[in-house]
Amino acid sequence: MSREAVESLLREKKQKDLSYERVLSSMCTYPHEIAAYAHKMFLESNLGDSGLFPGTKEMEGELIRMIGALLGNENVYGYISTGGTESNIQAIRAIRNRRKREGLQAMNIIVPETAHFSFDKIADILCVNVKKATLDDALRVDVNSVEELIDAETICIVGIAGTTEFGQVDPIEELAGIAKGKGIFLHVDAAFGGLVIPFLAEKDKYRFDFSLDGVSCISVDPHKMGMSTIPAGCILFREDSYLANLEVSTPYLTTRGQSSLTGTRSGAATAATFAVLKYLGRAGMQRIVDECMRLTRLLVQGAKENGIQPVIEPVTNVVTLSVEEVDRVAEALKAKGWTVSTTRKPKSIRLVIMPHVTEERVKLFLEDLTTVV
Ligand SMILES: *Cc1c(COP(=O)(O)O)cnc(C)c1O
Repeated sequence: MSREAVESLLREKKQKDLSYERVLSSMCTYPHEIAAYAHKMFLESNLGDSGLFPGTKEMEGELIRMIGALLGNENVYGYISTGGTESNIQAIRAIRNRRKREGLQAMNIIVPETAHFSFDKIADILCVNVKKATLDDALRVDVNSVEELIDAETICIVGIAGTTEFGQVDPIEELAGIAKGKGIFLHVDAAFGGLVIPFLAEKDKYRFDFSLDGVSCISVDPHKMGMSTIPAGCILFREDSYLANLEVSTPYLTTRGQSSLTGTRSGAATAATFAVLKYLGRAGMQRIVDECMRLTRLLVQGAKENGIQPVIEPVTNVVTLSVEEVDRVAEALKAKGWTVSTTRKPKSIRLVIMPHVTEERVKLFLEDLTTVV
């Protein structure tokens, strides 16, 4: 095909994709302009063979310290992954490998009922039993249920800081107390909330990071609220030795070993994440989260004025609305051009108020929602 023909084909396909303007279902958004710039500059960079790309490797090292500092400890160890799924797999794989080496045969982990579906993949790949703890009235994990599920084969407790469906934050401080007391690894899945909660006005109510002794590991996704390009996740361990539990040797590369799950690994997304965080700094991130939370409150208030109640009062920028006939409402909103998602238990309309959402769109959405309901 000619260059022109390929370009035309690309444009044709691109037109079929949705633009984010009326997407209220996704935890991803447009990358920041400086992320796109950095991504393009480092397009060929491969952190899977980092000896060839020491500059990119330096950025990754600095990023780990920056994100660690935001999450309570700059002296943490990790790498830029492809997202929350890889980070969760690696967290569980690290502690599984360690306990296997110690001679444990059968192992289980305890996750909240609200856990992301990546834990179904983990059960499948890692051959650990995944036990699900029940929730309290506000859809946080019930700490008593977690304690009851712990047995001699429990190697890890998972807490979620910003659940995918409801944006709720589990009582991580209490989970950290239990984990520490029993010597169990605590993984905090902050894929979404990790770059939201540190900027909330009530952040002290939702402690979830390395400032809590019992927290062993955190997963956080720059390609969600960090406005980086895809694929940018981040896994952080309190101790260096967990990376060793993940390492294999890499004979024909410029490095000796590799702890990441993927081999060839985009340095572009690392550069993009680095660029956004350097450019915005904490003050810039604060402004973005403030605006998302302001619009979240505006949406909930508008819904309430029209007799529609939220499932929980939003903690982060995720809104879930209780309506009759959830699927019909979602379909009717789709017909009006809005993409929303739904939750399973309880059933509700789910909206994520990402940085691409504006006040004007919130108002237009509320009008359509009220009509449809
Ligand atoms: C999005 C999300 C994940 C999965 O992240 P991917 O980047 O899609 O792999 C895991 N856990 C939570 C809480 C999430 O919100």
